[in-house]
Amino acid sequence: MNRLMPTYPPPPVCFVRGKGTRLWDTEGRCYLDFVSGLAVASLGHAHPVVTEALASQAAALVHVSNLYGNEHNEPLAAAIDALVCGDSPDEHGGVFFCNSGAEANECAIKLARKFGGRGRHVVVSAYGSFHGRTLATLHATGQPTKHEPFQPLPEGFRHVPLDDLGALTAAVDPTVAAVLLEPVQGEGGVNPVSVDFFRGARRLCDERGALLMVDEVQTGFGRTGRWFGFQHFGVRPDVVTLAKSLGNGVPVGACWARDAVAAVFEPGDHGTTYGGQPLAAAAARAVLAEMVRLDVPTLAAKAGDRLAQGLAALPGVTSVRGRGLLLAAELAPDAWPGGSKAIVAECLAAGLLVNAVTPTSVRLMPPITVTDDEIDDALAILGAALARALGGTGTISEQP
Ligand code: PLP
Repeated sequence: MNRLMPTYPPPPVCFVRGKGTRLWDTEGRCYLDFVSGLAVASLGHAHPVVTEALASQAAALVHVSNLYGNEHNEPLAAAIDALVCGDSPDEHGGVFFCNSGAEANECAIKLARKFGGRGRHVVVSAYGSFHGRTLATLHATGQPTKHEPFQPLPEGFRHVPLDDLGALTAAVDPTVAAVLLEPVQGEGGVNPVSVDFFRGARRLCDERGALLMVDEVQTGFGRTGRWFGFQHFGVRPDVVTLAKSLGNGVPVGACWARDAVAAVFEPGDHGTTYGGQPLAAAAARAVLAEMVRLDVPTLAAKAGDRLAQGLAALPGVTSVRGRGLLLAAELAPDAWPGGSKAIVAECLAAGLLVNAVTPTSVRLMPPITVTDDEIDDALAILGAALARALGGTGTISEQP
């Protein structure tokens, strides 16, 4: 009997092994993975650099409390700070380590509240956003249907329509401690934020003394074609939250804040048993070193162009949105009786993992190390599924 809580639908397949862009199930079938554990395995599965870092750290020291030092968390924090700041002469920052994206955002919310002080605690985010499933990050998440079963949620969250600068201007009153934005809304449907809205948010935060906090949990570490999504907009945030690809599958999250903001935390204000522990931090250090060596933003930009162009040419795709290798193909709504879920199921049967991010669109976020051939194979499988759903002559190709 299955003793898992029913928080996810029954899984259609069980995976036992991965290598690069490929996964194998319990029956030995091979799949092309264009989901990457939801934008996690950016270096691909079982990357030897990460495997080696994990194996040697596991043999040396798995865990030690944050009451003591370890050899990895400070260099890892410095590596993250260097990527966030780039060659900007602006203020550097400090990092808090945790275990997930939601925890990174919890840290950001607590930081904003302490920085703002009593009476200045509201966080404004966008409708359609996703910031996590803890009670506070659930309320920051701009999807009211997800709130309903869990009311009352913690007080102090407000939402505005994405790209509506007028609404944001009206929302940021003196009770607002921070504006929290994703550069591309991932779970909300792959909706890129406009340059004007993002820059306007920065201006507004400066004028009104609020923090601009950017949730890079899904977009961070090269996925959008820059190290971080905010770097497309030419503005610097005060706080950046990170997770997912930082560990390439090892659970690790981080909250970066510029020095003056990070400095409001004192010992005892925040903490977690596992955050920055040796095993996770060693893996993340190896991931970042390999990402820098490979120059993953350039790889993501190049592969993203190929994938976006290929998607746009598929039958029944009305538009393609996103940045780099975080893309969604919008399907002509009338043409899909089963919606995107039916297409995703067809692709799975043919050996390709993609994600039904909205009822009418399919999200693709392969490892950033994906090859041109793998992109072309994935497009062929998706194209055949679409052609078949359209009643055309496409046939589902064999598994890769
Ligand atoms: N923020 C964003 C932008 C995300 O996409 C996600 C997860 O998909 C989260 C936060 C929550 O991260 P986690 O599931 O690691 O708690």
